[in-house]
Amino acid sequence: MTSLYIKNGQDISGFPLEILIEDQKIAQIGPKLDVIAADEEIDLHNDSYVSAGWIDDHVHCYEKLSLYYDDPDKVGYLTGVTTVIDAGSTGADNIEDFYQITRQKKTNVFAMINISKTGILAQNELADMSKVEYVPLQRMINQYPEFIVGIKARISKSVVVDNGIKPLIKAKMFQKLLTQHLPLMVHVGTNPPTLSEIMDVLEKGDIITHCFNGKDNGILNSDGQVKEFVKKALSKGIIFDIGHGSESFNVKTAQQATTENVFAQSLSTDIYHHNREHGPVYNMATCIEKMLYLGFDLKQVIPMITTVPAHNFNLDKGELLVGKDADLTIFNVKNEPKDLVDSDGNKFQTNTVVEPIYSIIGGQSYAIGENNGSI
Ligand SMILES: [Zn+2]
Repeated sequence: MTSLYIKNGQDISGFPLEILIEDQKIAQIGPKLDVIAADEEIDLHNDSYVSAGWIDDHVHCYEKLSLYYDDPDKVGYLTGVTTVIDAGSTGADNIEDFYQITRQKKTNVFAMINISKTGILAQNELADMSKVEYVPLQRMINQYPEFIVGIKARISKSVVVDNGIKPLIKAKMFQKLLTQHLPLMVHVGTNPPTLSEIMDVLEKGDIITHCFNGKDNGILNSDGQVKEFVKKALSKGIIFDIGHGSESFNVKTAQQATTENVFAQSLSTDIYHHNREHGPVYNMATCIEKMLYLGFDLKQVIPMITTVPAHNFNLDKGELLVGKDADLTIFNVKNEPKDLVDSDGNKFQTNTVVEPIYSIIGGQSYAIGENNGSI
């Protein structure tokens, strides 16, 4: 039996927290444990935080693509993210290959299957409706029920070209036909179709990603106020996901939404090699810093990358409880100035820097090097 004792840590409310991991599971948890000997000890000296392992529910990590791709470990455990959900990089034609490759990775990898069977081989995967087929989709979901945790449809002008709302109607139909319920994540951007048409089709539990983009077809009207139908969509139970990305997080949109009590429920990066290396995404820690800048605290932000995505995608993760898989993230929060930038080039400065120092996945600890987890 291997054991790991994490001592002198604190939870996201700042209360003392210690955890004993045995055989890949959380064995004990409390403010102060009485552990005599463990195979490995991590002493946090009362200044680091311990949370459930971070979950990023919108990444692109199928390495064989040429447009949006990355190594799951480079966007995963090396940055404090213990679980990634790839958001539709692959469809029925290539998701099997993606599954096989990711079994070698240290990071937990799950996938949403693209309703286009090619996945994102090219930007316009929904321009040709013959690629949107039910039978191969259902076959893959039946074959990999533990891996495929959702359906993805990218519904913006450059993806659907002349097809408007049609691919989304199909996605909704497929979701209802499936023998098991899976959440539908919809990427929104430039119209057509309009955001209002999209929200009309979506139902409780479906997810809008890129919710705070700064585009004309975004959540704000020409007076800079949140559109009425957006508030209705939220009250009907549609989930708002950040999906930062290269083009999809505008800090002013996010500030206005916050002022009007329109909140995102989950925080994701939409990371791939380019926006990881060159920004504006960089990593999950930088996205957390942006949420803290907006005025949220750790108690509000950490659930957006733990309990909430776990619940939305039915993952048995996201909570620090005895008996659960020992997936944890250990991080520091420092009072230091740092320049941040959103997807539209708006610059702002924070005084709170988040630095992951350990990823623990299934009880295995990985120290995060100085240069791995930050810019
Ligand atoms: Zn994406």
